[in-house]
Amino acid sequence: MALDEKMKDKFNGITALINNTPMLEISLKFKGQDRKIYAKAECYNLSGSIKDRIALHILKNSYEQNLIKEGDIIAEASSGNTGISFSAIGTYLGNKVVIFMPDWMSKERVKIIECFGATVKSVSKEDGGFTGSIKLAEQMGKDYNAFLPHQFSNPLNVDAHYETTGKEILNQLDKFGKIPDGIVAGVGTGGTIMGIKKAVQEIYPKCKAFPLDPSNSPTMASGGKVVGPHRIAGIGDEFIPEIVKLNELDNIILVDDGDAINMARKLSTNIGIGVGISSGANFLGALKAQDILNNKDAVVVTVFADDNKKYLSTDLMKEQPLKTDYISQHVEIVGIKSIK
Ligand code: PMP
Repeated sequence: MALDEKMKDKFNGITALINNTPMLEISLKFKGQDRKIYAKAECYNLSGSIKDRIALHILKNSYEQNLIKEGDIIAEASSGNTGISFSAIGTYLGNKVVIFMPDWMSKERVKIIECFGATVKSVSKEDGGFTGSIKLAEQMGKDYNAFLPHQFSNPLNVDAHYETTGKEILNQLDKFGKIPDGIVAGVGTGGTIMGIKKAVQEIYPKCKAFPLDPSNSPTMASGGKVVGPHRIAGIGDEFIPEIVKLNELDNIILVDDGDAINMARKLSTNIGIGVGISSGANFLGALKAQDILNNKDAVVVTVFADDNKKYLSTDLMKEQPLKTDYISQHVEIVGIKSIK
């Protein structure tokens, strides 16, 4: 089914504001060795994160299929960025948006969602935390006939990254004259890693795909059993999502949240690239991937999912006490190149 003219115009109105983000080539020394890491700067999307890609793709496809219409409520469980993306784009399209979010996520997330005129329902640990948020969104679907994007199970989530993030990575690496050896992405829904993997392996089947988990709460590595508190917001929720196919992926890379914070801080204080905590984790994950590949020159690509502005009230603002196994202390950033 096609979109009517009004909705077609609406979607056209925001196309230049989402996707086609810059790619960074970051040169560094790691334990004295020269290395490079490639990262997509996702804060350049409309609402400031990689999640605008999936919100746009899911909403456009669902409008086309008549699964949602103007005025419908959109209800989703989110650790923040997806909620922010649906709030911005949903409001723009004429939908009411209700986001169910665990109550330990940063205050900035709640305020930003409210800025878009959407509603946040905070869910405590006692009320089920993340899984409780998903159940409450489901209930809203039943009670109010709300549209449920279902980011943890919707194949359109993977598809968005296959069509956009993954293809952009291929084009931009080509401009750098590089062929990918590995990709790394922290797993929230898993849409990023699964979608990029599909696009990149279509052209380079030998490229490895490494999912990343917080070492403080290695949910994937423990088969979904170990779930603990950690500070890498946006990844390592409380279960292994349906769209993650671990049997299609390579080693699970673990990064400590304190190490991720120190790395994110180093990127901002050394080269002015202000990123969120998961970006610090992904950067360290990319270095670990080069070690796994046994090649310091391996071309490894990752994503900087968002910037630092949603973390001003969090531990990102505090240098973390060093632990011996932290690897960020051995990183010295040398320089940066960026391309569109
Ligand atoms: N980092 C941040 C900051 C995020 O908000 C998300 C999305 N939850 C991710 C990483 C993980 O992305 P994905 O859901 O595609 O696995």
